[in-house]
Amino acid sequence: MKKNCLEIVRQKCESCQGCALAKNRNNVVFSDGDASTARIVLIGEAPGEMEDETGRPFVGRAGQLLTEFLSDAGISRDKDLYIINTVKCRPPENRVPTDEEKAACRKFLDAQIDIIKPDAIILCGATALKSFVNLDKKQTISKVRGQWMTITVDGVDYKAMTIFHPSYLLRNHSMAEGSPRRLMQQDLKNIKDTILPDVNHVDDVTSDNNVAFGSLVSA
Ligand code: SF4
Repeated sequence: MKKNCLEIVRQKCESCQGCALAKNRNNVVFSDGDASTARIVLIGEAPGEMEDETGRPFVGRAGQLLTEFLSDAGISRDKDLYIINTVKCRPPENRVPTDEEKAACRKFLDAQIDIIKPDAIILCGATALKSFVNLDKKQTISKVRGQWMTITVDGVDYKAMTIFHPSYLLRNHSMAEGSPRRLMQQDLKNIKDTILPDVNHVDDVTSDNNVAFGSLVSA
């Protein structure tokens, strides 16, 4: 049912000419992840070059880093997350999408959340955060990240947390206490422990597809 509804939205999105970003796109970047198993929606900013080429979100260097952080926290990108962007077409030179572009694309974002009805939403980076929260001047992503909050989409309240965008982490390599990478680890562990306490992907390798390996491990 979810997949059917999402497919209808995807088809509308792929033919969308709702803003100027349609002109130069190679692909509409609609989503990644398994809608039937995902309990968390992760929202990024916009497709970059690799995403535009492949039609998948978060597949460039930043996406690979995000996948590693998720995996370290015990969160499966493929099973636990449904990954989407604030806008579905690549802005020129990877600039931040304008308010007009975000507004034009909002119907797809809201529809995706409404169909998935996740247990939680991860707002990845400032653009995703500002799409749902009006920040006052003193509130920066560094101050807001890591805090659970409630956001409302189409009249439904969702538990949400902001995390750093992985492109920021590509420029900050330190793993020292209090560094952005260390805070990212903490935030994803908090999300895993709060939303997915029952999930253990170590078990996945001992599934029916891995009978021999399962016997070996349990011996
Ligand atoms: S960014 Fe969104 S609104 Fe703009 S053309 Fe692409 S799908 Fe349509």
